[in-house]
Amino acid sequence: MYNKAIYAGSFDPITNGHIDIIRRAEKLFDKLIIAVIRNPEKDPVFTIEERIELITELFKSSNKIEVEGFEGLTAEFAKKKDSFTLIRGLRAVSDFDYEFQMSQINRALDPRIESVCLMTDAKYLYLSSSLIRQLASYGANISEFVPKSVETALKAKGHLK
Ligand code: ADP
Repeated sequence: MYNKAIYAGSFDPITNGHIDIIRRAEKLFDKLIIAVIRNPEKDPVFTIEERIELITELFKSSNKIEVEGFEGLTAEFAKKKDSFTLIRGLRAVSDFDYEFQMSQINRALDPRIESVCLMTDAKYLYLSSSLIRQLASYGANISEFVPKSVETALKAKGHLK
């Protein structure tokens, strides 16, 4: 059987926590689509094109990984890609509430959808894109939390001193 999965998120920017989840999911599936949400309600630091470019560059050596942008419901995107397994990363119990709710909604929208949650590596327990954006705005050293390319891109945006 050909197993494929979708890992959807804003990835504004992608962090080492996301990358860890992607590397682990890559081992479990034949194909992994990293789906970058456009998210019109948020004002992102990186445009969707920039986020896609950063992620594509990071995983260019993997023939299992594809990167795509989308707008609207993840359930609709899943249908379009004919890929009904959604990978999610869980950090604290507080993530669980939200992920539980999302998985119920997604299954109500399309019963073929299954959410598969991978538990974070303890190293990344407190790591989030919003924390990175905050730290960067104060000029903090974020080199242990994001890949070099993201650090450089944040600098280029004037978001990192
Ligand atoms: P969203 O805007 O949908 O929350 P994110 O880009 O913040 O998108 O996150 C996408 C997914 O990655 C979510 O399932 C989130 O819980 C997970 N995730 C984010 N940071 C980490 C981390 N440090 N460790 C594990 N999973 C994470």
